[in-house]
Amino acid sequence: MTFISNLVKIIISGVNSHSFISCDEGRSIIVMEKIEKDIYKITLPTPFLVGPINTYLIKGQALTLVDTGPNTEEAFQVLESNLMELCIELKDIEIVILTHHHPDHIGLLEKFLPHAKVYAHPKVKPWLDKDPKFLEDLLQFYGTLYESHGVPEKFIREIEKKKKGYLHFSSGGHVDKELLEGSEIEGLSEWSVIETPGHAQSHISLYRHSDGVMLAGDHIIEHISSNAIIEAPYGENEERPKTLLQYRESLEKCAHAKIAYSGHGKAVENPKKLIGNRLVEQDKKGQKFKQLMGRNPITAFELCKRKYLHIFEQQPDLTFSETLGHLDVLEENGEVRQVLLEGIIHYQVI
Ligand SMILES: [Zn+2]
Repeated sequence: MTFISNLVKIIISGVNSHSFISCDEGRSIIVMEKIEKDIYKITLPTPFLVGPINTYLIKGQALTLVDTGPNTEEAFQVLESNLMELCIELKDIEIVILTHHHPDHIGLLEKFLPHAKVYAHPKVKPWLDKDPKFLEDLLQFYGTLYESHGVPEKFIREIEKKKKGYLHFSSGGHVDKELLEGSEIEGLSEWSVIETPGHAQSHISLYRHSDGVMLAGDHIIEHISSNAIIEAPYGENEERPKTLLQYRESLEKCAHAKIAYSGHGKAVENPKKLIGNRLVEQDKKGQKFKQLMGRNPITAFELCKRKYLHIFEQQPDLTFSETLGHLDVLEENGEVRQVLLEGIIHYQVI
C-alpha cells in the first residue's frame, strides 16, 4: 500500500504527533489533526447551518476515510489538500465508510469511487442509487404525513423544495459491503459497527475495542442535540419509524465509549455523562411540549408553531421533526393520545 511508505517519511518521531513534513508545500488551509493512534480528523466547510463537518482518516490495515464531506468544490479542495499533507492522494484511499446518508457526509463519495470500496448500512443504498421512484415515494410520504398532521400546503411545498435542494450536495454511488450491528470491518480489524438509528435510519457508529474510541457521526454531538429526523419507512407496509424513541435507545448503546468523535464540533470527552444529560434534557423538553398543548386537542403543526414561534418558518422540517418526535415519546409513555378530527391527527393530553 503506497501510503505506508509515504507516511513513514513524513511523521517526525520524537516530536509531537501533530507535526508533519508537508507534501503540499503550504498551499492549503490545514484543518487536519492527529487525534488518536492511527486516526486523523479533517474538518471541511459545508453550506449548511450546522457548520463544518469532520471526516476521519484511519490508518488501519487498509487506508480508510470515514465520511466525505458535501459535494462542493470548496470542501473537495480542502479535503484533497489536507490528504496531501499526509502525502495521500485520493486514489490511495482504499475504503470509504459512510456513517449515514446525509449529503454533508456522503457528498464527495464519487471522487473516491474508481479506487475505493464503499462500506455503509444497507439503508444508505437507495440514496446513492438516486432512483427517481425512491425520491418520488419519499416526497409523497412527506406530503401525506404533513397533511395528516395539519401542516399547510405552503410549508409542505417549502419543505419539499428544501429536501430536493439538499440532494444537490449529495453523491451517486453504490455500497460494496453492508455494515450491520456487530459487523467486523474488513481492513479495520480492531473496529466494529454499532447500529445507531435515530438521527438517520442509516446511521452507524464505529467502535475500536482496544481503547474505547468511537466515531459517532451525527449520533452524538457535543454542542448540539442531534435532531431525530422524521423519515419514511424503507420497506413496504412498514410504519413510519418513531425516530426519537429509536434515538434514545441508540444513545444508551453508546454510553460505554471512552471518547466519541463526532461529525460536527469537538470530541465528546465523557460520552456517558453527555448521554445521561441529553436524555434528561429530552424528558424536560417533552414535558414542556405537554404543557404547551393545553387541554384541547391540538395538531403537531400548531404545537410546533407554539414551541418554535420564531424559528419554525426558517426551519419547518427540523422543528416539525422535533415536535412529532416528542409527541411520539409522550404517546408511547401514555401521556397523550391521538384524536382524529375532520381527518387531521390531533393530540390530547390524557
Ligand atoms: Zn446527519
